[in-house]
Amino acid sequence: MMLDAIRPPRTAAVIGAGFGGLALAIRLQAAGLATTLYEKRDKPGGRAYVYEDRGFTFDGGPTVITDPTCLEDVFEAAGRRLADYVELMPVSPFYRLMWRDGRAFDYVNDQDALDAQIRRFAPQDVEGYRRFLAYSQEVFEEGYLKLGAVPFLHFSDMIKAAPQLLRLQAWRSVYSMVARFICEPHLRQAFSFHSLLVGGNPFATSSIYALIHALERKWGVFFPRGGTGALVKAMVRLFEELGGQVRLSTPVDEVEVEEGRACAVRLKGGERVPCDLVASNADVVHTYGTLLRNTARGRQEGARLAGKRHSMSLFVTYFGARRTWSNLAQHTVLFGPRYRGLVRDIFRGPGLAADFSLYVHAPSVTDPSLAPAGCTAFYVLSPVPHLGKAPLDWGRIGPLYRDRILAHLEQRLLPGLRESLVTTRMLTPFGFRDELNAHHGSAFSIEPILTQSAWFRPHNRDDRIPNLYFTGAGTHPGAGVPGVVGSAKATAGLILADLAADGASRP
Ligand SMILES: Cc1cc2nc3c(=O)[nH]c(=O)nc-3n(C[C@H](O)[C@H](O)[C@H](O)COP(=O)(O)OP(=O)(O)OC[C@H]3O[C@@H](n4cnc5c(N)ncnc54)[C@H](O)[C@@H]3O)c2cc1C
Repeated sequence: MMLDAIRPPRTAAVIGAGFGGLALAIRLQAAGLATTLYEKRDKPGGRAYVYEDRGFTFDGGPTVITDPTCLEDVFEAAGRRLADYVELMPVSPFYRLMWRDGRAFDYVNDQDALDAQIRRFAPQDVEGYRRFLAYSQEVFEEGYLKLGAVPFLHFSDMIKAAPQLLRLQAWRSVYSMVARFICEPHLRQAFSFHSLLVGGNPFATSSIYALIHALERKWGVFFPRGGTGALVKAMVRLFEELGGQVRLSTPVDEVEVEEGRACAVRLKGGERVPCDLVASNADVVHTYGTLLRNTARGRQEGARLAGKRHSMSLFVTYFGARRTWSNLAQHTVLFGPRYRGLVRDIFRGPGLAADFSLYVHAPSVTDPSLAPAGCTAFYVLSPVPHLGKAPLDWGRIGPLYRDRILAHLEQRLLPGLRESLVTTRMLTPFGFRDELNAHHGSAFSIEPILTQSAWFRPHNRDDRIPNLYFTGAGTHPGAGVPGVVGSAKATAGLILADLAADGASRP
């Protein structure tokens, strides 16, 4: 929707340049609002920040890019083509899953190859898998295609969705749904771990999140040439070409509210920038509790949201090695000795489990430009409790934990790793808390359980301050790149509809 009727252009302030903030800023600027994006850090991307060390390029966060159509849609809203800005390369296998007993599963998008692998684990599960896929596809239709980019502002929106949620047994957990169809324990892990990628505990999060499987099967898994950072750069380029302004290293200190409406952002350092509306892509607890601290609404909502269940944090080690390994996949999951017990420890604390399951990312397998010639770039990620569940001193234990993980990798996946290391760096729960302002250092914001989803999640528009909006992992539909890009679509739709209604009511 273009707001041709708006003269002079309305001004929008978007706080935070994560994928949600970028996608929203593009949509608003493309619709005719003079939009400024304020980002605390020195580079855009948020959780998709890029670290560069000694010729290695490390994407800080998202590496599994699914649903390219949601990204294409952002570019199309601005009359452009994603493919003219960045190349998305298909990745296969989607993931290589490895267990300690030596068994492995290459998760691919070819039905015959998938069936053959499932048969190797348990022949009777081939049929069970088909039924699981059919379930997953149905949830995907209802939960993603129909409701993924629609704001849930009123309880009636929830009531409307209730029959489908009941029919799809959304009260069940992802794991319990998978276990209804699939019997073999390795396969149950293989088809239920996905919700962890968006901060959901497979044993607690709604079975609606089983849709991730169908989503991956429908479009595939992609990786941008040049890394996820190249996608961030493409979005920034598009936004700036449209006339939008990006202000990096510019934390917002306060959202000013007058007569019940957001009227300006005050930046750290004191500068005050008036605007017609504010949209926050920053952590929802930070936005209400800190940026709106001088309003009763901010204090109340900040305290309420702080009391919600928050997703786990992550411990990420980025490392570069001066050698290559043959037969490495881009995405590898190394399952540890426990599944249910480990997930419980990660979500409940109170300490760090002695064992771990790891996700290993080796981007230079697909794009060698991300490491110097003859070298390999990696990150390894271990889900850990957030700081509210386990207030650990990561400054002290971080290096010890990193060393344990690297020793484990050397033993299970990368022989000779430690003697070939060129560089390492860590992102701990402290980094999520201090760099990204994430409550408790959570990596994925509010935990995606049924009672914290859709209408129960922070709304894309505040209930009291009518020109204060939200986008990103803490709002509907939730974390993950497709989730936050979908939230930006929902929020942009609301903003433009509100402005159109406002324009129509003016003389
Ligand atoms: C290690 C890791 C791996 C992941 N892997 C995947 C994956 O493979 N696939 C996938 O789909 N998803 C993945 N995710 C999830 C996905 O990255 C996130 O859900 C998504 O990127 C979050 O986007 P967002 O729009 O919520 O913004 P965020 O990325 O959270 O960005 C918010 C921005 O707001 C800024 N900000 C905060 N406070 C202020 C302030 N006061 N003023 C100005 N700016 C402020 C922050 O600096 C930050 O840049 C991963 C996440 C992590 C952490």
